[in-house]
Amino acid sequence: MEMAHCKRCKRLFARVLGPICDECNKAEEEIFHGVKEYLRDNPKSTVGEISEATGVSAKKIFGYLREGRLEVAEGAGLHCARCGIAIASGKLCEECFVIAQREISGIIAAAEPQPAAPEMPERQKAMMHTTRRRK
Ligand SMILES: [Zn+2]
Ligand SMILES: [Zn+2]
Repeated sequence: MEMAHCKRCKRLFARVLGPICDECNKAEEEIFHGVKEYLRDNPKSTVGEISEATGVSAKKIFGYLREGRLEVAEGAGLHCARCGIAIASGKLCEECFVIAQREISGIIAAAEPQPAAPEMPERQKAMMHTTRRRK
């Protein structure tokens, strides 16, 4: 029997299937169930609304969406205007928001001349990030 630390609660458990223990598995299922029930009663909710109503993080809900376990109304899933990643509210994801803030402060400071297209590698990074998270 293989012992492993649960990825969710960090407890040592006898690993059978996934990286989380039985109890966490059950808890996760309950969370998912809650989201699904809420969506059944409120089919037009946005991810932000679901998150607020169920207390489940938007990131988790988007995870369900990506896995195809959940479906929200068309347009309910917002996307970052910059990198296209799914977001709960606003126009930019957290990462792009930070980048945008940095760019704005960079423009204000204007201390060093920046290369013409500093946006490209950042975007690639963000895309790589997205692909990695999709696994
Ligand atoms: Zn656990
Ligand atoms: Zn973004």
